[in-house]
Amino acid sequence: MPDKLRLALIAHDQKKDDLVAFCAAHAGFLAGCDIVATGTTGARIAEANPALSVRRLKSGPLGGDQQIGALIAEAAVDAVIFLVDPLTPMPHDVDVKALMRLAIVYDIPIALNVATAEMILAAHEAPSARN
Ligand code: PGA
Repeated sequence: MPDKLRLALIAHDQKKDDLVAFCAAHAGFLAGCDIVATGTTGARIAEANPALSVRRLKSGPLGGDQQIGALIAEAAVDAVIFLVDPLTPMPHDVDVKALMRLAIVYDIPIALNVATAEMILAAHEAPSARN
């Protein structure tokens, strides 16, 4: 794994606020990460946290999720944080399943909620704390 954690960030609908807050809470650590995000999510994160460098892909529904899938297949991301909004209907379902499938195939961490996202960052923020 490279020195810098390469993170892919995506949030659906009402979960975008949660991801922006998560990034603000971890801004110090994330400033040292290579961040790639889908279009609208990336714009929201960059606007709220100007210190973070965020590479923005296309908006999810226009292919941004697939671009992140391609990065997983190329081993160009180390972990995915994909905050799915469970209170919206099915249209995003295929995107969620596609990225989950690739994360399983390539055995990379994928967080679908904030609690798991916290665990992924904790694993990298304090590696010396583990035995
Ligand atoms: P967005 O895409 O960040 O451009 O909203 C996310 C998605 O809907 O998959």
